[in-house]
Amino acid sequence: MHPCSSVLHLLLRCMRGCCRHSRSRVPRRLRRHVSYIRLIFKSLYFNSLTNSDVVTDSVLEPVFWMVEVVTRWFGMVFVFLVVALTSSVVFIAYYCLLPLVLHTYSPGWMIWHICYGHWNLVMIVFHYYKATQTPPGYPSKTKTDVPFVSVCKKCIIPKPARSHHCGICKTCILKMDHHCPWLNNCVGHFNHRYFFSFCLFLTLGCMYCSVSGRHLFIDAYNTIDEVSQPPYTYKDRMFYKSVIYMWVLTSTVSVALGALTLWHALLITRGETSIERHINSKEAKRLAKRGRVYRNPFSYGKLNNWKVFFGVEKRSHWLTRVLLPSGHAPYGDGLTWDIYPLKKDMMPV
Ligand SMILES: [Zn+2]
Ligand SMILES: [Zn+2]
Repeated sequence: MHPCSSVLHLLLRCMRGCCRHSRSRVPRRLRRHVSYIRLIFKSLYFNSLTNSDVVTDSVLEPVFWMVEVVTRWFGMVFVFLVVALTSSVVFIAYYCLLPLVLHTYSPGWMIWHICYGHWNLVMIVFHYYKATQTPPGYPSKTKTDVPFVSVCKKCIIPKPARSHHCGICKTCILKMDHHCPWLNNCVGHFNHRYFFSFCLFLTLGCMYCSVSGRHLFIDAYNTIDEVSQPPYTYKDRMFYKSVIYMWVLTSTVSVALGALTLWHALLITRGETSIERHINSKEAKRLAKRGRVYRNPFSYGKLNNWKVFFGVEKRSHWLTRVLLPSGHAPYGDGLTWDIYPLKKDMMPV
């Protein structure tokens, strides 16, 4: 018999008893059964681990669900925006900024601008392409000998250390940092370097356009009211408006993306992902209350963290693997992790 029907049966028997037996016994029996029903009902949602965070998460669950659906469906729109805005700035740089450089700068500065501008552009395009196209890495669903720290409640598979479930990709991601709508991809073990380099070189590119185009912008800003009248032509108006658009966009992105890049640089220095920053700070507070200090097991020292992140194994790699486009695989497989301190022969020089 189903437990609910047995409870109802008891309740009915009790109520029938109301009519037959004395009034004094009824409330006590009824109370007992009502409290029994209440206990069964509470057992449906009781959780010894429940705290205010879980309740808040549950209340906000519909909001998270909406954000996940919107991000998933509009993923390609964000990618299109990145490509369209970057292309428009590149076009304006060639159309407005390059002629200024070629006509007014000394040969030395001219060569520097042409070399730097094109190197920066290649780095942006390469890292954006690789960040969007490289899968972040997924835990194995068949390999059983990989050490794991927990089981994903949604995928029902073992989760290796540093892996987390992405609600937008609907799968677990190795060394997950975050889901990036601008890439329409998760940032994880295999594309974390591409993501960071893209942010870094896009910030540098925007700063370059903003600083190099500042005189053009000031001229355009001061004459924008006059260009609507003759002798200025439609082409002149478009030129000035394009310069203002480029300067405002690149300056804004420099500040916003620059701040994000600095934040990620700080995390890399500490050997943490964005998710681990949240977990580690909670753990540090918990241990501090007991008078203990938390040590991140995946941090190998500030400089070594950068070497591991960029895959720098010898000095020349700072040039070939960091300052030039490089498609080398990251350090490790993302399934197992060396815990601090690393053995000497495992550490890059
Ligand atoms: Zn999962
Ligand atoms: Zn994702």
